[in-house]
Amino acid sequence: MKAKSMETLINYAKNYGFVYQGSEIYGGLANTWDYGPLGVELKNNLKQAFWKRFVQESPYNVGLDSSILLNPNAWVASGHVGGFNDPLIDCKACQTRHRADHLIETYDPSVHADGMKINEMEAYIKDNHIPCPACGKHDFTTIRQFNLMFKTSQGVVDEQGLDLYLRPETAQGIFLDFKHVQRTSRLKVPFGIVQIGKSFRNEITPGNFIFRTREFEQMELEFFCKPGTEKTWFDYWKKESMQFLIDLNLHADNLTFEDHDASQLSHYSNMTTDIEYKYPFGFDELWGIASRTDYDLTQHQTHSETSLEYMDPVTNEKYIPYVVEPSLGVERLFLAVLNEAYTSETLESGEERINLNIHPALAPYKVAVLPLIKKHHKEEAEKVYRALSKHVMAVYDEAGKIGRRYRRQDAIGTPFAVTIDHDSLEDGTYTLRDKNTMEQTRLSLDEIIAHIEKRIKF
Ligand code: ATP
Repeated sequence: MKAKSMETLINYAKNYGFVYQGSEIYGGLANTWDYGPLGVELKNNLKQAFWKRFVQESPYNVGLDSSILLNPNAWVASGHVGGFNDPLIDCKACQTRHRADHLIETYDPSVHADGMKINEMEAYIKDNHIPCPACGKHDFTTIRQFNLMFKTSQGVVDEQGLDLYLRPETAQGIFLDFKHVQRTSRLKVPFGIVQIGKSFRNEITPGNFIFRTREFEQMELEFFCKPGTEKTWFDYWKKESMQFLIDLNLHADNLTFEDHDASQLSHYSNMTTDIEYKYPFGFDELWGIASRTDYDLTQHQTHSETSLEYMDPVTNEKYIPYVVEPSLGVERLFLAVLNEAYTSETLESGEERINLNIHPALAPYKVAVLPLIKKHHKEEAEKVYRALSKHVMAVYDEAGKIGRRYRRQDAIGTPFAVTIDHDSLEDGTYTLRDKNTMEQTRLSLDEIIAHIEKRIKF
């Protein structure tokens, strides 16, 4: 087995139609990525699996799709206008731009620089003679705070337009609709609201392929509970989140909880942990889980002058609920899943064999339809393809030797293949091949559909 590197994954993702560089024919736009025919399927499957687990099967949660553009006062209230900043530092010698906290943490991974003040970071970089990672010199500017929100303007005339922000997280849209959702769904605390959607951050140092980009998707849950019960729910959602990843076949050895100590906690949070995954470049954040107290709802209540209190229908107690927030990035999960599933070996013949060992629920195509001999079996195979594609994502392939066609499907993780041969024309049965067991069974079309639907369940 060859070791996986980011380069291997990037090449694989490009060559098989998972992820392409954005705007490539114009020379690209740095750190933008497009999801090709297989990538969009995998992304959709990840989002569906999340929705199924955290909305459909959850006894507590409901869904929401709020708008990306919010009244700008919401971002003042949430603290994003004043404080959603990263510490920016430039190398005077080579003009490269860095995040000061990352410089420090790369130099000494045991230091948590996100808890440091600006002057502490400057002193640390100087005292430890941290060099510029690009040129090795020691000549940095002072640190400036850089707001990560993308600003845009609404209206036809630029100067008179209303300044708006593209949301840097989906969470705030949930807080703004908290009362609507609670009332219209007649929900009692504890309950949660889930949202999946695009977020935008003007990251200083995007990179590592799709790990850190300026445009990305989040799958967020805001879980509202009674003050004093947040520790129970924080532990509950930690466990549920980890289980979800394990159920998607991410290996437990590649996952770890990274609890934030007091110096790392945001001012509104009394408990935070990150689930980190072991990417090819090392352990890094996949899923942030934060207990956010009543900070957000209180801020929005104050700034909007609208009560966001909840009244317990049994005890008549009035309070602002506390919030526990698990927040997961779709692209980071995509990268983790690809990294976990991709295997390749070089055969004695020199041929490279790729096998994408992905959970069947996530596989872009669930079944490949393969006429054994194109000339004789095409018509029947097309019939089978049309029937199967009413149930699941199916792909039709008639090009080349059957073994080669199987391997093409193995390389993209298609869990099943149906082969149409001479006997199929006589008795209406087909060979169903299971990628993982390599078992081949003769079944009718109805049996095949039932079998596949059972096996791709998540
Ligand atoms: P980081 O420390 O890596 O910048 P963060 O702590 O700022 O991340 P959160 O604000 O907690 O991230 O966002 C929740 C989740 O959203 C993250 O765990 C990650 O999966 C995803 N996410 C955040 N920023 C990005 C980004 N720039 N690109 C891709 N995914 C992101």
